[in-house]
Amino acid sequence: MSQLVLLPHKDRSLARRHPWIFAGAVDRLDGRARPGDTVEVVAANGRPLAKAAWSPASKIRARVWTFDPAEVVDDAFFKRHIQAALERRQSIPELRYQDGLRLLHGESDGLPGVIADRYGDTVVLQLTAAGADRWRRAIIGALQRASGCARIYERSDSDVRRLEGLDAVTGWVLGTAPATPLTIVENGVRMQVDVTAGHKTGFYLDQRENRRLTRDLAADRMTLNCFCYTGGFSLQALAGGAAHVLSIDSSAPALATAIDNLALNPQLAAERAEWRQADVFAELRTLRSAGQRFDLIILDPPKFAPSAAYAERAARAYRDINVLGFRLLNPGGLLMTYSCSGGIRGEHFQQIVSDAALDAGRQARLLRRLAAPPDHPVALHFGEGEYLKGLLCQVD
Ligand code: SAH
Repeated sequence: MSQLVLLPHKDRSLARRHPWIFAGAVDRLDGRARPGDTVEVVAANGRPLAKAAWSPASKIRARVWTFDPAEVVDDAFFKRHIQAALERRQSIPELRYQDGLRLLHGESDGLPGVIADRYGDTVVLQLTAAGADRWRRAIIGALQRASGCARIYERSDSDVRRLEGLDAVTGWVLGTAPATPLTIVENGVRMQVDVTAGHKTGFYLDQRENRRLTRDLAADRMTLNCFCYTGGFSLQALAGGAAHVLSIDSSAPALATAIDNLALNPQLAAERAEWRQADVFAELRTLRSAGQRFDLIILDPPKFAPSAAYAERAARAYRDINVLGFRLLNPGGLLMTYSCSGGIRGEHFQQIVSDAALDAGRQARLLRRLAAPPDHPVALHFGEGEYLKGLLCQVD
């Protein structure tokens, strides 16, 4: 097996079990390796440290499969680790009966570049790194066995694949497309999931708990849901008895699905829902000029900062929508605001939101910090895993 030799003193982050080896830490590769091949990682003095997937095209030159240099990376490795990830989820009561569940969460499950979400009996697999791609067959086999699912759809079309020199791959790898649209029930609300054309793997499972919290907070509130996608937060607000829910998104297909989703839930008061196709940045200004006010505002924008390099521009965008959000709140109103940018850390986001309140001239308090649910765990030694951060604030 080829050896990836680190530069002197560049083994520290590995010793802290951070799974990424950046180009700047690498002295040389002894031997030959194709993209995705497993290499042995050794310190400058030759001491074995880990086994990792070689990714010559990426700035993240290797991703660690195992910190035990003696562990073999083979089909059985994936069988073992995928089974263990699913068992961990089964051991958490609130995850046991979820229709929609993240089964594999990449680095934080010890499987860099491997994402799998289960919607009913269908698993959607997303491989985002060269090593994950190399082990595709083993991963699919292990997922099929461990999940018992009838269908697996591969959705390896995320932008980050390009950084790894990988082309997009999509299609059914087990079973065929279901005859009727796939739906799941989340917190008592039925939602369609378009695994082939929807965002990510079709649905934002990472907001499940926060949508439930919205339901608990929404009673009698005039609600504004910005970046509503297929209406997840909107429908939960209706389920919680919101007085009115205005939902905004720029995507026509997402709004069409949101309206279908509302129709799938006859128990909800459809006449209280209003959908608007618009750019949130512009529409928030329009609402303010029109003198509209709300009691609950949800801001769940797309990833403005995919990496730290975009942090500054992203910070301005977050500040902008949060200033507008604070200004549109009635006294006592709630702002539920999120960032899913890996490039913006939690403290930074809180600073941005607190600056936004100052700009808006509002006195605000933090009621709760919000995050992704436990099927999206964060490995303690992998800070980048904590990508979803939310703040629930109340204004005076
Ligand atoms: N809250 C959603 C997920 C939001 S994803 C849920 O719980 O499922 C982000 C959404 O923002 C996408 O639907 C995208 O179409 C939309 N979007 C991105 N930029 C936008 C903009 N400038 N104005 C309005 N919508 C935008």
